[in-house]
Amino acid sequence: MLLRGNLHAHTTFSDGVRTPQALVAEYERLGYGFLAITDHFDHENLVHPDYEETIATLESELLIFRGIELSYQRLEQHVGRVHGDAETLYILNHPARYKLSVAETVERMHTIRRAGWPLDAVEVTDTGMYRPLYDTDEIPLVKVATDDAHRPPHFGRAWIEVDASRDRDAIIRAIRAGDFRVGFKD
Ligand SMILES: [Zn+2]
Repeated sequence: MLLRGNLHAHTTFSDGVRTPQALVAEYERLGYGFLAITDHFDHENLVHPDYEETIATLESELLIFRGIELSYQRLEQHVGRVHGDAETLYILNHPARYKLSVAETVERMHTIRRAGWPLDAVEVTDTGMYRPLYDTDEIPLVKVATDDAHRPPHFGRAWIEVDASRDRDAIIRAIRAGDFRVGFKD
């Protein structure tokens, strides 16, 4: 089954403008199959105590992934962590926002992996806008597109389409294997 999904999105638990339920409704309207909600940790690397349970108990036609946008403090580099049931996906977020060169991106990948976050993927987008510099084999990570939804008009600007069963771990394994394609709104 071909499922369209977004791996990076924010709600009122951090700096998004939609509550989790309202954000889910946006992506249901867009016809998505899955959505990862990845609010930021605050500056003390904590989230609101209700966050995990709120996300875990959302009612939706979408397959919802619990997630978090971590900050690798020493570099202030954001890293998306998306939880399946057994699998976990780590994404090096928007190198374009930090104006990194390809070499710097690769260096960060190694540094963050050594620190214990096993990066799988890199965003070739910045808030849904394609940044082709990072869409290169020189960065040995799977290339994903996300819209990093905070507010309109971010919703639905970039996505991935995965041919997988409607199962969180199957989707993560397909992404890790590069078995998907990216898409962008015209
Ligand atoms: Zn973000």
